[in-house]
Amino acid sequence: MISVFDLFSIGIGPSSSHTVGPMRAAKKFATKMTQAAFLEKVTYITVEVHGSLAFTGKGHGTDKAILMGLEGQDPESIDPDIVDDRMETIAQTHTIFLNQSKNITFNPQLHLILNLTTLLPKHSNGMSFKAFDHASNLLAHDIYYSIGGGFIIAESEVNIESTSGRPISDDAPDPCPYPFNNTEELMAQCRKHKLSIAELMMTNESFMHGEKNVRERLLKVYAAMRACIEKGCQTGGILPGGLNVKRRALNLHQLLIKKGKPSSFEHMDSMSWLNLFAIAVNEENAAGGRVVTAPTNGAAGIIPAVLHYYLTFYPNVNENKIIEFLLTAAAITILFKKNASISGAEVGCQGEVGVASSMAAGALTAVLGGTLAQVENAAEIAIEHHLGMTCDPVGGLVQIPCIERNAMGSWKAVNAMRLAMDGDGEHKISLDQAILTMKKTGEDMNLIYKETSLGGLAASYIEC
Ligand code: SF4
Repeated sequence: MISVFDLFSIGIGPSSSHTVGPMRAAKKFATKMTQAAFLEKVTYITVEVHGSLAFTGKGHGTDKAILMGLEGQDPESIDPDIVDDRMETIAQTHTIFLNQSKNITFNPQLHLILNLTTLLPKHSNGMSFKAFDHASNLLAHDIYYSIGGGFIIAESEVNIESTSGRPISDDAPDPCPYPFNNTEELMAQCRKHKLSIAELMMTNESFMHGEKNVRERLLKVYAAMRACIEKGCQTGGILPGGLNVKRRALNLHQLLIKKGKPSSFEHMDSMSWLNLFAIAVNEENAAGGRVVTAPTNGAAGIIPAVLHYYLTFYPNVNENKIIEFLLTAAAITILFKKNASISGAEVGCQGEVGVASSMAAGALTAVLGGTLAQVENAAEIAIEHHLGMTCDPVGGLVQIPCIERNAMGSWKAVNAMRLAMDGDGEHKISLDQAILTMKKTGEDMNLIYKETSLGGLAASYIEC
């Protein structure tokens, strides 16, 4: 079962597959190495990263994430402000504090290897962790894959099917009350049991976590999204990484405040606020700040922007609407995750910004009272008009085109809602067909457009 909290996890930027996933994998390996069988013997560790982790890992903070993970940090609780100091100390002393248990040798120049030539067999984002004793005897060797959205899979634990990250052997029936594998099944369950998508999701989530807990945690997710928007709106300066991209949210916020905040979504300026919310989040993400993965970090601005836009400019909003929005969005992500991918390294940006836009479109339609057919229609329209979108971050940084792309994805989500709500929900292409098309398009896409920064804008940009 995929939980809403697997999809909306509070962590750090800039990338779910390149930062959050690698930190989780490194922590997992470090935890294993501090078990009794290894702790006394382990003297040094090497980490080799492959595929897009090697090509754009530096810009995405993969190196930092792995070292922090080896020191026992996790994305949910790490203080982003300590990372740079700690990295400097490790670089000077060639020592890491393995899972907060033991100092061992680790020279990042030597022991963290970017393998630009070989892919590991099951996924393009592979990581190979090895531990050695003082005589360089191999003690342990684990391989993990970062499969998008912060999810990781250990090679030894599961076989994964093509690019979806879905376990081949996982054919056991889903134990939740209302299982679904695709849109058709989701809609059939909703119609049969007379439930909205959010009600169905709440029943499934409550089965795992209890309703009170689910409500509290979802409100905490929104609080983290809101805090991220607020911090982004108050922070200026230049984003890290060397591209010298100026943060825009601070000035944009001041400009919009000067113009006066509109009281309703009917005012066109409300869409400028939507831009602001998305840009604020993605600038925080690019700076390695605290963000909510939704469903990835590169696309982390769209769900907070559209939800906050709705709460700011629409009437009759309350906590229940926040919960309804997030649960509906999560159900749509599950459809993509089960049947295609949410990883830019697998299917390009259509799987990140496209999916987030589809989630937001469906969720916004639901909270505005759309029918099941209209919710599906909105989600389908949003993904349909992101099909083929490549991933080509300039300099391997989640800045250009990613930050503006989240603003555009948010607009498309709102417009998809409007198109769906102005119709009766009838549409020719189903969401399932659009998801399958996204998957096939991603499979046909050249590797240079899948988070490697070898093509597209990344290749066109010339540094002056
Ligand atoms: S271009 Fe899209 S998929 Fe690629 S890093 Fe940026 S947001 Fe993620």
